Amino acid sequence: MSQTTATSQVRLTLPDGSVREYPAGVTGREIAESIGPGLAKAAVAIRVDGTVRDLMFPIRGDAPIAILTERDRESLDVLRHSAAHIMATAVREIFPTAGIGFGPSIDEGFYYDFEVPRPFTPEDLEQIEARMAEVTRKDYPFVREEVDRDAANRRFADDPLKLERISELGDDEVISTYTDGTFTDLCRGPHVPSTGRLKHFKLLNTAGAYWRGDSRRQMLQRIYGTAFFKKDELEAHLHRLEEARRRDHRRLGRELDLFMFHPFAPGAPFWTDRGTTLYNLLNAFMRDLQRSGYQEIKTPLLYNKGLWEISGHWGKYKENMFLVLDNETGEHDSSLKPMNCPSHYLMYGANKHSYRELPIRYTTYDVLHRNEVSGALSGLTRVRQFQQDDCHIFLMPSQIPDEVRRLTQFILSYYQVFGLTATLKFATRPEVRIGDDAMWDAAEGALRSALEATGLPYELKPGDGAFYGPKIDFDVADSIGRTWQLGTIQLDYNAPERFDLKYVGEDNHDHRPVVIHRAVNGSFERFIAILIEHFAGLFPVWLAPEQVRVLPISDAQAAAAHAVADRMRAAGLRVAVDDSHETLNYRIRAGEVEKVPYMAVVGQREAESDSLALRVRGSGKKQEVLTVDAFLERVTGEVRTRALVP
Ligand SMILES: [Zn+2]
Ligand SMILES: [Zn+2]
Repeated sequence: MSQTTATSQVRLTLPDGSVREYPAGVTGREIAESIGPGLAKAAVAIRVDGTVRDLMFPIRGDAPIAILTERDRESLDVLRHSAAHIMATAVREIFPTAGIGFGPSIDEGFYYDFEVPRPFTPEDLEQIEARMAEVTRKDYPFVREEVDRDAANRRFADDPLKLERISELGDDEVISTYTDGTFTDLCRGPHVPSTGRLKHFKLLNTAGAYWRGDSRRQMLQRIYGTAFFKKDELEAHLHRLEEARRRDHRRLGRELDLFMFHPFAPGAPFWTDRGTTLYNLLNAFMRDLQRSGYQEIKTPLLYNKGLWEISGHWGKYKENMFLVLDNETGEHDSSLKPMNCPSHYLMYGANKHSYRELPIRYTTYDVLHRNEVSGALSGLTRVRQFQQDDCHIFLMPSQIPDEVRRLTQFILSYYQVFGLTATLKFATRPEVRIGDDAMWDAAEGALRSALEATGLPYELKPGDGAFYGPKIDFDVADSIGRTWQLGTIQLDYNAPERFDLKYVGEDNHDHRPVVIHRAVNGSFERFIAILIEHFAGLFPVWLAPEQVRVLPISDAQAAAAHAVADRMRAAGLRVAVDDSHETLNYRIRAGEVEKVPYMAVVGQREAESDSLALRVRGSGKKQEVLTVDAFLERVTGEVRTRALVP
């Protein structure tokens, strides 16, 4: 709070700019009541001088304030953190000796860590959830008390985790406790006024978690849950979680036989024939788009540390690189490349360039390695080995606006092909950075005016830029509303200095180019994970590893079915024939499980009339009979236009 007035009155400024006076020590609840009974009922918490407090918090100095209701985003955090307390209340009633760790709200809900003799079972969770419902029905107020250290130590004498935290609090810190019904917790707050405010919640899962995230300390049991103010919001969230589970690319990757992992190569996918087909299709598509105006190059995978010393990676990024032993020096002084940029600078710097050649756009799909800690690895979204659709553009400062417009259109139209919608974020200088303020002013100014010239809306992300320059990030929303950060356009004034890159200007003198780092997919691996989940494995026909499966009704049509398949292959389609001796229904079912877009059934009548009975994925038992030529025309057209069908 800004200052304490000499009198025992405080002057509080409301969001509409009006000022009200109250006795010092007034609480949010009293303020809300003084404004109106409607607000008093709706109030969840109060923001005092930028900090969210609960409604029982005494305000002792002048400050701007805002009463928060369910409509404010901060209120949801308050509700969820309160839900964590209510969960702890229930756990303590059922497991009276449970030790109590941390219980914060998180992005999509809350958790609490407990020290208990055994992991919680699904039955425990049900029981805890039922007990939480009782605690909310009793509508206990959250009672705040400020206590001194001795009182706090006495109160939590039976819980070593709490005692440890009390011992770390500074002497000038206020120690506060909150009690809701049978349970008292050491906490700073804020909380909702009473347990009855929690109405729509769900416990989701459990996980082991080290006390304080330290693997040398004891393992606690974490329970995750979520809570919302509105029932339909909770239901929509649970539905989204269920959808995400159903679409999980790790499961679908196995079921659709796309990739696998092996403990001998952690974080490095093995691509099956089908997965490799998918990978190559995406790569071919990107190559196609970059056929003109780009130079595709390949550079070495392994480098001497000298390169990383110039680029700054040896100092700042070494722990993320796979170091390699050099037999001649006996030292680990080489490394697999974690990114392509420095090798592209070497390539550019090897020749003299005229301003007339710029912009020069190098693109590369080389394999990269990053030494991610094994605990962070997850399916295809966090891997150690991957390939990017990487591009580095060398250009004159005056070319930045045109280039940024061109790249932005390129990236957005690429996402459109997959039915992904993107939002643009403009990220500015981070706290830890290289380069002086003048450089950053120039870089941010150039990128921002280039971005504004596109006419597209964007969000500002202050402090989120790369350490060498500002960037535009492309966040993409998938079919179930989750967002993923994919593409990026990063402006770099620093690398050209470090690598002494030049071009000869119109004036015949040397000048520094600017570098733009650009990626569209990010990595193919992660992009494929996103596509699998976005499409729930139902790839549009142009991307499906197997586009058509031909099914002869009986052996008598096997030869005709193979002939039809050959014609389809000749037309460029990826086709399999299932002439196994299973029943037709069984084979159709297998094709459905494997999510094949088209199944072409060939019976006697079809064989004689050069036609097929087509089953389209997602259309149930419906069959349409058409000639083989009509089928080829239709499907090759869909593939050529990359239509999002079937
Ligand atoms: Zn709390
Ligand atoms: Zn780069």
